[in-house]
Amino acid sequence: MDRLNAFGFTSLQLLTYLDTTTTVSLIMNGHVIAQNGHSTQNGHISQNGQSSQNGHSSRNGHSSQNGTVMKLFTPGPLETTISVREALLTDYGSRSDEMISIIKFIREKLVVFAGVPEDVYTCVPIQGSGTFAVEAVMNTTTDKKNSRVLIIDNGRYGERMEVMCNYMGVEFHGMREPESKPVTGETVRKFLEQDNNWDIVTIVHSETTTGVLNHVVDVGKVVKEICPDALYIVDSMSSFGAIELDLEAGLVDFMISSANKCVEGVPGFAYTICRKDSLLKCQGRATSLCFDLVQQYLGFQKNGMFRFTPPTHCLAAFKQALIELEEEGGVANRTKRYKKIHRALIDGMELLGFEQYIPESTQGCVVTCFKQPTNKNWDFKEFYQGLIDHGYVIYAGNTCNDCMTFRIGSMGRLTSKDVRQLLECVRKVLHNMAIEIPVM
Ligand SMILES: *Cc1c(COP(=O)(O)O)cnc(C)c1O
Repeated sequence: MDRLNAFGFTSLQLLTYLDTTTTVSLIMNGHVIAQNGHSTQNGHISQNGQSSQNGHSSRNGHSSQNGTVMKLFTPGPLETTISVREALLTDYGSRSDEMISIIKFIREKLVVFAGVPEDVYTCVPIQGSGTFAVEAVMNTTTDKKNSRVLIIDNGRYGERMEVMCNYMGVEFHGMREPESKPVTGETVRKFLEQDNNWDIVTIVHSETTTGVLNHVVDVGKVVKEICPDALYIVDSMSSFGAIELDLEAGLVDFMISSANKCVEGVPGFAYTICRKDSLLKCQGRATSLCFDLVQQYLGFQKNGMFRFTPPTHCLAAFKQALIELEEEGGVANRTKRYKKIHRALIDGMELLGFEQYIPESTQGCVVTCFKQPTNKNWDFKEFYQGLIDHGYVIYAGNTCNDCMTFRIGSMGRLTSKDVRQLLECVRKVLHNMAIEIPVM
C-alpha cells in the first residue's frame, strides 16, 4: 500500500472506493491499477472478480457475500484485520529478495511465538490448508513398511489422520476416546502399558470438533517415558497463537498449525514447528515429492525459498498478522481477548436456553459446541441459513458422533459488540422459527 499512499490515497480510502457498486478504475501513471470487480492483467493492485461471492474488504472490516456484510464466527478462516487484507494487495515474485525476507521473518517469528530455542527447533511451512501440513508430517515421518502409528482420536481431526494412514498404507491403531472428554496422560499410560511398540504417536491439542483441550503435555511425558524412541506429533491447528502450549515440556517433536487459524492470517499455507534432529532422522521416508518436509526444509536452508511456487500474497498477509500478534502482546493477550469473546458468547447463548456440549473447564476458548435443541420446530439448516441472512456465519453442520450439536467460533477479530449482535440475530431467527425462548 505504500506505493498508493505515495499517490495520496490511504488504504482505507482505496478499499472504500473499490467497494462501491459502480465500475471505477484507478489510474496511476497512466495505467489502470485497479478496477472494482475486475482484475487487471498487469496492474499492481487489483480487486478480485469474485469479490461479491468470496468477500472483499470494506470500510467496516467485514467480508461480504452477495453484497451483504458477513461476520465469521467459524473456526477458520476467520475475520482478519483490514491491515492483514491490505497486505494481499502487493504482488511479489516468488524468488524475489522481498519474498525471501518475508519467509525468513515468518519462519523465525513462529519459532519465537512457539517459545522454543531456534537452535533445536525449526519451522517448515508448506503450501495448502492445515490438512496438507498434517499429511506432510505423517508422510515425512512414517516408514511405510515398518512404522507403527498410534493415533489418539477423540474427534474428526484425529479420525482424519487415520484416513491418511490408510491412504499411505501405514500400519496404525486409532485409540478411540470419547469426544466429550479431554484425553489425559493416565488414559494413554493405561493403553501404552498394554502395547508400547509405537514409532509415532499423534494427538490433537484443541479438538475443534468439540473445542475440548487434550492434555498434550502430560500425554507427551507418558509417551516418551514408555516409548522413548517414538516421535510425538501434535495437531495444534486451532490453538497455536491463542492457547499456550509448552512444546519442550510436552516433548513434542512436530507441532502443526495453519495460516488461517489463531494467528489470524488468510488461508494458503500451513506449517510445522519441529525438532530439527527429529525431522532429519526422517530423511528418505517420504513417498511424496510435495509432502517431503525434509526436502522442503533443506530447500529453505539452501536458498530461503519454497521449492515450488509459494502463496506469495498469503505469506505477506501472514507476516502482517504476526506483527499484529506481537503488537497485541503475544499469545497471552490473545488468549485474554478470545476468552472474553468466548465468555460473552456462552453467557448469551445460555440465557437463550442453549446448553454446552462439554463442561467449560475442559474447553479452550476458540470454539464452543452447543447441543441442538429438541424443540419440534428446530431445524439446524434453517437456523444456520437464518443467521446467514442476517450476515452471520457459524460452523455448518454437526460433526459429533454421540450427540447432535452445532458450533460457534470465538476466534479471529471479533468484538463484544459482534457477539451481542450475533445473539440478537439468534433471538430473531428463533422467533421466526416459532421457537420459544429459552429453547429446550
Ligand atoms: C482446521 C483444522 C485442521 C485443518 O483443516 P483444513 O481445513 O485443512 O485447514 C486440522 N486440525 C484441526 C484440529 C483443525 O481445527
